[in-house]
Amino acid sequence: MNYLFPTYQRWEVEPVSAKGAYITGTDGKEYLDFTSGIGVCNLGHCPSQVEEAVISQMKKFWHVSNLFPQGIQQRAAKLLAEAAGLDLVFFANSGAEANEAALKLARKATGRQKIISFTKSFHGRTFGSMAATGQDKIKKGFGQMLETFIHLPFNDSEALLNEIGDDTAAVILEVIQGEGGINIAEPEFLETVQKACQEKGALLIIDEIQTGAGRTGKPFAFQHFNLQPDIITVAKGIGNGFPIGAVIGKAELGEAFGPGSHGSTFGGNPIAVAAAEATMETIFNDAFLQEVSALGEYLTAQAEKTLGALETVVEIRGLGLMIGIEVDGNVPDILSDLRSNGFIALPAGESVIRLLPPLNIKQSEIDQALAFLADSLKKLTRTAI
Ligand SMILES: *Cc1c(COP(=O)(O)O)cnc(C)c1O
Repeated sequence: MNYLFPTYQRWEVEPVSAKGAYITGTDGKEYLDFTSGIGVCNLGHCPSQVEEAVISQMKKFWHVSNLFPQGIQQRAAKLLAEAAGLDLVFFANSGAEANEAALKLARKATGRQKIISFTKSFHGRTFGSMAATGQDKIKKGFGQMLETFIHLPFNDSEALLNEIGDDTAAVILEVIQGEGGINIAEPEFLETVQKACQEKGALLIIDEIQTGAGRTGKPFAFQHFNLQPDIITVAKGIGNGFPIGAVIGKAELGEAFGPGSHGSTFGGNPIAVAAAEATMETIFNDAFLQEVSALGEYLTAQAEKTLGALETVVEIRGLGLMIGIEVDGNVPDILSDLRSNGFIALPAGESVIRLLPPLNIKQSEIDQALAFLADSLKKLTRTAI
């Protein structure tokens, strides 16, 4: 019996419970989860400090609407703004909603229409965020897209300089394309984008929905580069599993988002915000983030050592605990084989196995994950011969 639209090709594992990096299935088996709910449960499944914050808020109030001032929203917004080096926050319920708000804000603040984005990007599946996305498979069958968006090749400075002009409202990009295949932006390209935006008066929007919340060893991935974005968007890992997204922007954009200009009934819901506050209090901490970087370096080095020489492995790349293993093989088949052995990972792009473990993963769990991967990838080589 199925009552759900078949928008997802669902896996064969049905969870009954989850804790830390493990999911227990209805089959009674334990699975090592290197997806974190697609980069969401960055502190692992059901961390106690988030549970306590949510329960505590549930005993106060659940929802009152954004017509009321709510101290908890101000506290969470301060954490986000200070971590990003920006000033003002708008709370949404998802990544796509955060991007929609950012795109609207950029158009209103600049009075311009055109928005530049890049091939292989992913910005969401709503009408505007889908049009911003640089992948045909996301848009196929949905007819004409919004004319606002121009897609340029990623990491191509010349194409950007040829296109950007006085009519450009914004450039939107991920510094590491997540869904598109763990494609890392080149520092020189980002510098060109930054400079061109400043020269032409276009806003720079960094989509940190997958790369934010400590995933790369900094609060936000743009902080690895010499960038001063006007707006960043976040979601996924910010609430460790509770639905929340946010636009974080410079103070001077405040005027364009005055009373009545934008809104959301559920945006900034106090339960989700309580989860986000507890999550960010843990993650936006130097010692915690240094450990994420160290674990990322360990994972990359060990992956290189145990998998790098395999015939099927083309490249291992990433930053912090956002790792892609590009393979010469059928990724869905490999992932299915891994699941049957007890390990869960994600695809990215056409040929990449994407690892997004919890940020507090144990070294022993990384070792275990690499053993699963080595096992499946070696098997693939044997059958291919
Ligand atoms: C997941 C994702 C989105 C969309 O977020 P939703 O919460 O699914 O709407 C947008 N941009 C990036 C980079 C993402 O990874």
